[in-house]
Amino acid sequence: MEYTQFIDGALTTNTNRESWVNYNPADNNPLGTVYQANEEDIEAAVASSQKAFQIWRTRTGAERGRVLVKTAEILRSRLEKIALLETQDVGKPLSESLVVDVSSAADALEYFGGMAATIHGDFVDLKNAFGYTRPEPLGICAGIGAWNYPIQIAAWKAAPALACGNSMIFKPSELTPATALELAQAFMDAGASPGLFNVVQGDGRVGAMLTAHPGIAKISLTGSVATGKKIFAGAASQLKKVTLELGGKSPLIVFEDADIPNAVSAALLANFYTQGEVCSNGTRVFVQRKIYDSFLSQLRERTERIKVGDPADTDTQMGALISKAHLEKVIGFIDAGKAAGATLLTGGIRPEKDFKGRDIRFGNFLTPTIFTDCEDAMEICKEEIFGPVLCILCFDSEEEVIARANDSAYGLAAGVFTNDIKRGHRVIHQIQAGTCWINNYNITPIELPFGGYKQSGLGRENSLAAIQQYTQLKSVYVELGNVDAPY
Ligand code: NAP
Repeated sequence: MEYTQFIDGALTTNTNRESWVNYNPADNNPLGTVYQANEEDIEAAVASSQKAFQIWRTRTGAERGRVLVKTAEILRSRLEKIALLETQDVGKPLSESLVVDVSSAADALEYFGGMAATIHGDFVDLKNAFGYTRPEPLGICAGIGAWNYPIQIAAWKAAPALACGNSMIFKPSELTPATALELAQAFMDAGASPGLFNVVQGDGRVGAMLTAHPGIAKISLTGSVATGKKIFAGAASQLKKVTLELGGKSPLIVFEDADIPNAVSAALLANFYTQGEVCSNGTRVFVQRKIYDSFLSQLRERTERIKVGDPADTDTQMGALISKAHLEKVIGFIDAGKAAGATLLTGGIRPEKDFKGRDIRFGNFLTPTIFTDCEDAMEICKEEIFGPVLCILCFDSEEEVIARANDSAYGLAAGVFTNDIKRGHRVIHQIQAGTCWINNYNITPIELPFGGYKQSGLGRENSLAAIQQYTQLKSVYVELGNVDAPY
């Protein structure tokens, strides 16, 4: 398999450039060769996106919407193929990619496709004059993606950008080059003009080229805080617009009156879905003292039943981490946790066989891990691990847990479990996080804004809020009387 650029409606054929092998995290066997975009490719992508933008911006909202909705239909009709590609690239279980990744990409295209015809400005009556506003597209927007939800990230950026009349150049993570190409082909098959959605492959250097390019109006990144800061700084020289969806170290707070089995379900979803490689994960699980033992025993029992193994088997519940290097990094955090005095309750080992007895020694597998006896200041409780590592912290009072939950440079997400409706709202209103849940965790419907406070990001994806991220507002004053000049 060759992963090339997708520019002006087709995969490029020139492979005379830097390349690397893309590996399957489940066995570290090669999947194919990825070709790094060079300056020429970026120029070609910008020229083609500019041409497509000039056509697309003149289309009515309804016309744009039809292309987006058709693209969603095409993705759904190719569900099994795309889900398998995603599983091979990311290492996540097929049982997830079949129900979440492709559907959530299609949901975004349907939602923003339906909304495209409704994007409108305001009318303002000014007595002998009136004013109106026009939300206008920005131009070419660049999307830069992380490797954990490749097609979802591409669609969450492309759908609102295109609905608003922009074109997009998308750079997937160098580790997951496959499914952005599928999205590009689906747009073409749905009748989009060539260049409306281009894909350039490559590492951070390609992201930096897009950020610096004067022909690109906006950068939308999903990635780490460190990359977000670089892009923000790079975009500043041209005051380019940015949306930054970054990392987190989010709290999940379980009060003593909570429904414990539901809270345990949420803690599992908040830590072990996609091998724990989810930005909004609730990795600091605060449990009130009275229910601490009962919560912990249920959590441990259910964690140890998670089926770790071959991601392509639909019975598998937890797959392989994205790369050997990332696995080593996560193991480094586990070692640091043990060295700091936390107790490794379960997990933290590289299994040799999966739940069906298959040899998985060559993949990047790790058993789901729980630490107890954690302290807030420990590295495992402060840093984003981005792997299947859950830290349990005990608390006594509401006031105390709010202060501890907020004691973080991050502010992406938070969850509260309680059966006291007043407490649920009272606590969540005091938590410094952009995406919150009461009595659930990690549910991200397209209708609700998604994004972070503090260093977890800037701007929002999904919902009506995303329209502001991909338009600029023009206000027009219209005189109905004479011009009153004092000269
Ligand atoms: P990353 O290392 O920050 O990379 C993200 C993207 O930025 C990749 O495509 C990367 O390219 C590119 N990049 C790297 N350096 C760049 C530069 N100087 N200029 C422009 N682009 C550059 O993040 P990751 O390891 O892929 O993903 C994990 C992180 O993403 C975690 O922190 C996670 O929390 C966060 N995340 C956030 C959300 C959210 O919605 N808030 C969702 C998912 C993930 P290469 O990969 O090719 O180097």
